[in-house]
Amino acid sequence: MIYSYSRLKRYADCPASFQYKYLYEMSELPTEPLVLGKTVHTAIQLYLTGTELENAVEQAILQEGELPVDRDEVLRLVEHPMVRKIQGGQVEQQFLIPLDREGVIQLQGYIDWYEQLPGGAVKLIDWKSNRQKYAPTDNHQLGLYSWYLSQVTGAAEVDAELVFLRYPYADSRQAYTYTSVEMEEARRWAMALATEIEDKVAELNLLDGGEDEHLFPAIPGKHCQTCSHASLCIKSVQIKPVKIDDEVDAQRVAAEVIRLESATSEMKEHLKAWAKEHGAIAVGDSSFDFVPSVSWNIDAEKLYELCSELHDRGLDVFQYLTLTAANLKKMGVTDAQLQLYGKQKTTKTFRLVKAKEAC
Ligand code: SF4
Repeated sequence: MIYSYSRLKRYADCPASFQYKYLYEMSELPTEPLVLGKTVHTAIQLYLTGTELENAVEQAILQEGELPVDRDEVLRLVEHPMVRKIQGGQVEQQFLIPLDREGVIQLQGYIDWYEQLPGGAVKLIDWKSNRQKYAPTDNHQLGLYSWYLSQVTGAAEVDAELVFLRYPYADSRQAYTYTSVEMEEARRWAMALATEIEDKVAELNLLDGGEDEHLFPAIPGKHCQTCSHASLCIKSVQIKPVKIDDEVDAQRVAAEVIRLESATSEMKEHLKAWAKEHGAIAVGDSSFDFVPSVSWNIDAEKLYELCSELHDRGLDVFQYLTLTAANLKKMGVTDAQLQLYGKQKTTKTFRLVKAKEAC
């Protein structure tokens, strides 16, 4: 088997998910962030190889069109100053290299951009359309890409950078210089996982078509949110009884909740597809059906007109209008200013919080 960083990461997160996708070759539904990311990468590749910016975006949208994406959002990400700054270098390099001396285990990958400077130094960039930033050392992706570049260029160090395209220039860059020791560590990480997978696949083959859940166990966690196999995987749910005595129990139940929610939303998607074709699905005296939700889109000028008319009729429109925190932020209204007009109210909801949100 040929390995890539994303294959290995999937195995490290959840061996069952790896098994569903790469051993059973089960199809996966495209997700909006995945399609957006692929479209942005293709558009950047086209732009950096000479296609005019807007044309690059149009072509990428046509090429990667598994799901509709917002053209303006793609354009905004692609015209990031870091992308515009690139001159020369190698764009979207595909590589395949053996991880071991014998050449049995192969690693493949795509390097978004890299350049070897005249003195021998090597720089590499990986574009990210993620909302949440992280450091290169949080995982082994750039360590592995750097290791590959060190092998083909002879560089003892590689300057690697993640560029988060949703952030302004100064905040978008997460850079790290990999030493030969760190690059070798990344290779060892990949080699150890790939060898483990090879051994398990050999064992699985000996079972002659049989299944062994212990070889590729399901490990529920945050990654279940994006898993396409949750509804199949829930057969191994382990929450009997739902009782929380300590932190380990609490973490186990929390991970199972994410897996179950993911399975539920997958099942709902299947129901939706069925209902689209055949109509409402009855469950006792209730049913799953498409229920219209109505809202009005009124531009600012017309909204002003409507409010004036209501005011003229003697209604106090401000009793009914609310300003959301997001819109106040967009208008640059600070907490200090708001304190002059009202009292802050804080309510708490119990939900899964991203690490950055929790700070
Ligand atoms: S739902 Fe979660 S535990 Fe199950 S296969 Fe997917 S990622 Fe693994």
